Amino acid sequence: MKPDLFEAPDYYNLDDLLTDEHKLVRDAAREWVKRDISPIIESYAQKAEFPTQIIKGLAEIGAFGPYIPEEYGGAGLDQISYGLIMQEIERGDSGVRSTASVQSSLVMYPIWKYGNEEQRQKYLPKLASGEWMGSFGLTEPDHGSNPGGMVTNYKDMGDHYLLNGAKLWISNSPFCDVAVVWAKNEEGRIHGLIVEREMEGFSTPETHNKWSLRASATGELIFQDVKVPKENLLPNKSGLGAPLGCLDSARYGIAWGAIGAAMDCYDTALRYAKERVQFGKPIAAFQLQQKKLAEMITEITKAQLLAFRLGQLKNENRASSAQISMAKRNNVEMAITIAREARQILGGMGITGEYSIMRHMMNLESVITYEGTHDIHLLITGLDITGHNAFK
Ligand SMILES: Cc1cc2nc3c(=O)[nH]c(=O)nc-3n(C[C@H](O)[C@H](O)[C@H](O)COP(=O)(O)OP(=O)(O)OC[C@H]3O[C@@H](n4cnc5c(N)ncnc54)[C@H](O)[C@@H]3O)c2cc1C
Repeated sequence: MKPDLFEAPDYYNLDDLLTDEHKLVRDAAREWVKRDISPIIESYAQKAEFPTQIIKGLAEIGAFGPYIPEEYGGAGLDQISYGLIMQEIERGDSGVRSTASVQSSLVMYPIWKYGNEEQRQKYLPKLASGEWMGSFGLTEPDHGSNPGGMVTNYKDMGDHYLLNGAKLWISNSPFCDVAVVWAKNEEGRIHGLIVEREMEGFSTPETHNKWSLRASATGELIFQDVKVPKENLLPNKSGLGAPLGCLDSARYGIAWGAIGAAMDCYDTALRYAKERVQFGKPIAAFQLQQKKLAEMITEITKAQLLAFRLGQLKNENRASSAQISMAKRNNVEMAITIAREARQILGGMGITGEYSIMRHMMNLESVITYEGTHDIHLLITGLDITGHNAFK
């Protein structure tokens, strides 16, 4: 793979809106990606393997629980810093960002928000340091966009719960130490349970043959009469709103992360277009290539503004789920469109692993589907503005 010469585009001087802390956090993540991700990520994606050696570095840049209070081992940062960290990590690879998103927003967040003090003390510091890795089990083989239909369930056996069911498409599952699992009780109410790797009847087979997010491990969570101690139930929130609250936090991170992937594709294509000569001129001098590049920087700038404003709203606890859906949907589509256009600017070279673009493009096919599909986010906006539910 070519050396990482990335220079971040900032067409509207958005850096002026960032605090010194934001820039410090972002630059540390950017440096780490250049040093520890860019040189290795292509080969891990090619062999479809998650590079476990990066876990320590992810913890050190504050990627595990950026906004979780320091008393629980988190970085205690604001939402814009969280977004910037996700942007920088996804600039390297969406699969690596997925690992960080799951750990922070889908595992640490529910334990922090819906757990009790003992659960916070037991799990959060180990998850923040990367000593333990987590996964989040919501999706099932027959219930993806409609998680409320889940069949995974638990029964109260007096001194413990008995958990049965299966989850599919679970990021980090093959190596997770703990899983936050969403299951129905005997009354059909959804609750979160913390399942630990060594519990009998719990297995995590890996899903193979993915053409997307190849450097991220994906798998199943299977529960066959798993005895879960009663103290592992998250007591402070139940119902579908509980997992959806986690998804809000993760989707917000994706809205920023997708900008990172788009910036990398744009930066690569711009540099290539200035250097590649055809018909006696750099291809950057041809109008058709300028159109592509000019539209890319315009769309990246719009996405940056959307994410920044959403970050301000999140800092003030005023961001609605529908606003988060709009940003996730817009920014991921923006990134995938830019990846496709950037790939064309590189001609034949664009399909090789010498450059990051094709990997980003394939990764983004998962990002546009997970955490609510592109269609589902549109329906959320539609419901929000019309008051009519078009889901069913
Ligand atoms: C790489 C990867 C990692 C993932 N990681 C996790 C994870 O860690 N944890 C987890 O719980 N899940 C995870 N997921 C699952 C992901 O969230 C689901 O794939 C996603 O929610 C879509 O569900 P589905 O694949 O079952 O598609 P379906 O729900 O079957 O949807 C298929 C198509 O139908 C459309 N559709 C569905 N309902 C409607 C409707 N009402 N109106 C119009 N169109 C509709 C969808 O938009 C889509 O285009 C992951 C997925 C992938 C690919």
